[in-house]
Amino acid sequence: MSTVLVLAELKDGKIKFGSLEAASAAAEVAGIISGNVVGAAMGPAEESELQKIGAEKVYHATHDLLKDYSADSALEALQSILEKTKPSFIFAVTSEYSRDFLPRLAARTGGALVSDVAKIFSASEGSLKALRPVFAGKANVEVTAKGSPIIVLVKPKAFQPKGAGKSGSVEKVTPNIDAGKVRTKVKEVKKAEAKATQDLTEADIIVTGGRGLQDPKNYAMIQELCDILGARNGATRAIVDAGWRPHSDQVGQTGKIVGPKLYIAIGVSGAIQHKVGAIGSKCIVAINNNPDAPIFKFCDYGIVGDLFKVVPVLKEELKIALDKT
Ligand code: FAD
Repeated sequence: MSTVLVLAELKDGKIKFGSLEAASAAAEVAGIISGNVVGAAMGPAEESELQKIGAEKVYHATHDLLKDYSADSALEALQSILEKTKPSFIFAVTSEYSRDFLPRLAARTGGALVSDVAKIFSASEGSLKALRPVFAGKANVEVTAKGSPIIVLVKPKAFQPKGAGKSGSVEKVTPNIDAGKVRTKVKEVKKAEAKATQDLTEADIIVTGGRGLQDPKNYAMIQELCDILGARNGATRAIVDAGWRPHSDQVGQTGKIVGPKLYIAIGVSGAIQHKVGAIGSKCIVAINNNPDAPIFKFCDYGIVGDLFKVVPVLKEELKIALDKT
C-alpha cells in the first residue's frame, strides 16, 4: 500500500494550523490512491499534540539538534523517517519552514516538488495534477508533478482541516545527526511582540495599515481596531521597508499570503504585489481617500474617505455592535 506522509510544522511544541490543512489534502490524495496517511514531526512536542495530525501513525524525531530549527538537521531527521516510511507523497503547508528545507530534500531524493497547491485534480503513483497560482497570483496553472516522492506544499487556507481523524500511535525516531555537518546554528531567538504572535496565515480577521497612515505613530489606530475585532494586524511592504513594522506583519508577494474571513485594508493602495497576498480573503474591506486606488477594483466593500475621519467612526460603531463600550 502506498504511503502519504504529512510533515507537521511545530511552533513551541504546538502543531501549526496549516499542517492540519496539509493533512486534509494528504487524506484526499490517500483516498484517491488507496494509500495510508502517516505523520512526521521533528523537535519537542507532546504525544497528544502530535496525534492531532489524525494519522494512523506519527513518527516523531527528537534530538538535541532539533530543539532549534536548522535545515541541515531537519533534513537528516526527515530522511531517517523516510527510510522507515518510503512515502510516495509528502505533504506540508507552504511556509518559510517548508520552503527552506523541502526543496533540498527534493534535490537529494530526485523527487518532485510543487508549492502553493490550491486544488488537487488527480493523483496516481508517481504523478500529481494540481492547481497553483503563478505570476504573483495573476493567473492559475494546472501543473503535473512526476517523480517519487512528490513533495506537495499546500497553499494556506486552501484546504479545510477535517477535524479529529485517527489519533494513532506515536513512534519515536532517533535520527543520526552529525553535529559537524550542521552549518547553521541558532544563537538567539527574538520573540515577536506579544500582540503579533499569531501567524498572519492563521488569522480569521486581519486589519492592515499602509502608507496612507502617514506616520508610524498612526499605526496605533490599526492596533486599536485589532483589539476591538480580535484581529491580527498586517502591513504593506511600504511601511515595512520604512521600518514602521516588522517583516512578520507584511502581506503580499514578498510577505505572507493570507486567507482570513475578513481583511480590512486602511490607507493601502492595493498594488499587485499586495493584492496577491490578500486576494484569498473571503471578504475585503478597503478605506482609501482616492476613488481610483487599485484596491477598489478587488475589494468587496469600499469606503472612499479620509481614514483619519472614517476609522474613529468605524471604531465607535464596532464597539457598539460588538457590545465593547
Ligand atoms: P502607497 O502605494 O503609497 O499607498 C498609500 C495609499 O493610501 C494610497 O492609495 C492613498 O490614496 C491612500 N491614502 C493616503 N492618505 C490617505 C488618507 N488620509 N485616508 C485614506 N487613504 C489615504 N507590497 C506589499 O504590500 N507586499 C509585498 O509583499 C510586496 N512585495 C513587493 C515585491 C516586489 C518585487 C516589488 C517591486 C514591490 C512589492 N511591494 C509589496 C510593493 C508594492 O508595489 C507597493 O509599493 C506597496 O504595496 C504600496 O504600499 P502602500 O499601499 O502602503 O503605499
